[in-house]
Amino acid sequence: MAQIAFRNVTKRYGRTLAVDDATFTVEDNEFFCFFGPPLSGKSTILRLILGLETPDEGEILIDGKPVNAVSPAARNVAMVFQNLALFPHMTARENVAFPLVERKMPQADIDRRVAQVSEKLHIGHILHKPPAQLSGGERQRVAIARALVRDPAAYLMDDPISALDARLREETRVELKRIQRELGKTLIYVTHDQEEAMSVADRMAILEKGRIRQVGAPVEIYDRPASIYVASLLGSPAMNIVAGRRGAAGIEAAAGAIRLAASAVPEGTIEIGVRPEDLKVAEPEAGEAGATVVEVEPLGGYTVVTLDAGATRLRALMRGQPDIRPQSRVALRCDPARLHFFGQGGGVLVR
Ligand code: ADP
Ligand code: MG
Repeated sequence: MAQIAFRNVTKRYGRTLAVDDATFTVEDNEFFCFFGPPLSGKSTILRLILGLETPDEGEILIDGKPVNAVSPAARNVAMVFQNLALFPHMTARENVAFPLVERKMPQADIDRRVAQVSEKLHIGHILHKPPAQLSGGERQRVAIARALVRDPAAYLMDDPISALDARLREETRVELKRIQRELGKTLIYVTHDQEEAMSVADRMAILEKGRIRQVGAPVEIYDRPASIYVASLLGSPAMNIVAGRRGAAGIEAAAGAIRLAASAVPEGTIEIGVRPEDLKVAEPEAGEAGATVVEVEPLGGYTVVTLDAGATRLRALMRGQPDIRPQSRVALRCDPARLHFFGQGGGVLVR
């Protein structure tokens, strides 16, 4: 059992604020993701949890107890997946057992742990084989088993599958999710891939330059981003951000292509966020300021339509293969309830 919490933790490297006043709580048994662009402080947070780094300010707690002065070995959290490559000259069983053999665990305990983890990963029937005789997916599961064979209170993973090809990455993250649920262990997972974070995390924290910008369930953050920064990191194509004005009569944006009745938004200049899947394309009515179709990208199940409304470029994500041609004029429609309104500083205005 492991709940892991930061209270106002700051870590500096010279003048760099690697982690800036971070406060969060990862609950026991949670699959918790840290997501952010490169250099946003993800790895530093993991090293602080492990005890490989000491905070300059603030407190780290494991199960409610301060651990700032506790050695890494005594914290009982393990970084796994630093190396997913298997030893080619060992069987799958020897590979899985390796971390325990290295720690000189008694053979009977090793056999029991290997059997347990192999059952969870569905690799019992291939343990006698060398890696060369395993499929890509099987090798991956053996490597995960080796990573999980020790039994700490919490696992940490730092971008573990970024080196895999796209297909194997998708398979592996589904496996990871299943395994975490079955093991019932706290898993803190770092990724710079938004789709991966969305798909695996129970909850996630979004980082910007060492600061935690938002914490919540992935879908919650996707639907209610607290800022343009967060909104733009999640979703593909990215959310459209359109400059607009809230006047006495309502909201106008994108050279008149988007018009909305008055809302709870305060008067003045605003930024409007529209997810591509929430932007609808329709026949323009007489005299309606519309948009011009710039490009149509059929992706099979979906089509991405790029549009210009005055100087504003927008993207719409449509189901199937709609009959829309480049250069045609269209009207833009959106459900006001699906829009996001941000102020000048990029923070959300109404929730
Ligand atoms: P991420 O894992 O999100 O890419 P890091 O935690 O590795 O980010 O880095 C956060 C910031 O701290 C970066 O600006 C990085 O250059 C800096 N940093 C990380 N580790 C060190 C270090 N050992 N010495 C100096 N600066 C570091
Ligand atoms: Mg990193």
